[in-house]
Amino acid sequence: MSLYHKRNMPTLAGRGIIFFISLCLILLTSAFQPAKAWPSSATELDNFISALEKQCKKYGWNDINLREIPWEHHRLTKNKNPLIFAHYGNSDKNCVLFLGGVHGDELPTVYLMLRLAHYIKNNGQLFNDRCLVVAPVVNPDGFLANLPQRTNSNGIDANRNFPTKDWHRDALRQWKNKARSNKRYYPGTRPASEQETLFQMALIKRFSPQKILSVHSPLNFFDYDGASSDLDTFEQWMEKICIESIHPLKKYGFFPGSLGNYAGNERGIFTLTLELPTSNPGKGNEYFRKFQTAIMKFINIPAKSRDSFSD
Ligand SMILES: [Zn+2]
Repeated sequence: MSLYHKRNMPTLAGRGIIFFISLCLILLTSAFQPAKAWPSSATELDNFISALEKQCKKYGWNDINLREIPWEHHRLTKNKNPLIFAHYGNSDKNCVLFLGGVHGDELPTVYLMLRLAHYIKNNGQLFNDRCLVVAPVVNPDGFLANLPQRTNSNGIDANRNFPTKDWHRDALRQWKNKARSNKRYYPGTRPASEQETLFQMALIKRFSPQKILSVHSPLNFFDYDGASSDLDTFEQWMEKICIESIHPLKKYGFFPGSLGNYAGNERGIFTLTLELPTSNPGKGNEYFRKFQTAIMKFINIPAKSRDSFSD
């Protein structure tokens, strides 16, 4: 070995220092790695949007461009689908929350909410001083299933799983007796057990909406729940809206673990349910045109004033 080589060979101590520095670098690098994105990453969102795009194509919803909407995502479902929403407007007051696809087989409800998200985005000047939150696919696992299904991937109805005061006493009992243990309405073994329920609860907590519109199908009516002191005036307003949109009003009531019970009955949030006439995805555009005016009026009525329902 030449002298030259000897001079460039690190001594034992030198090698120890190099090893120590390398170890520090590795530890430092890993310490400053961004934490794994939780609950969902950009890739998961991208994959999900691609899956939704396929469904839109399949159902002929060619006027929907999902990538134009500024989606935020909250948490993941059992099938690792992100739960998405879009938040519009400058105000953090007077929020209106829109929910679609709570039941995955109610296909046009998803279209209606996607169209609404586009409409609000394209007409931002109308909604500047508003706070509008649109969650178009509350149950993506059910919506993306090969055969779309009402319940989520745990077989639980996200509209029977809210932690309402009567849940423990009544939810399973009513499911067995009134729903005759029909799997489509299964509330689960405990309340708020499902990501889809927690997602809706988180939206209500974060945005404190004064009004909620939840779109379902195919029962073909409007229904509402809310603070009992306001219901008479809401009823008058609703009767007018029902005549204008030629859509019947029906007091359907609420259930243990349902949104109407959790948000309307227990929290006094005016909660309007729009049941579309069918679950036919091809009718989405027709339903959007039919209910667009009612939805805009719903955005504009103040929720807390008795005098404000006259027009
Ligand atoms: Zn439904």
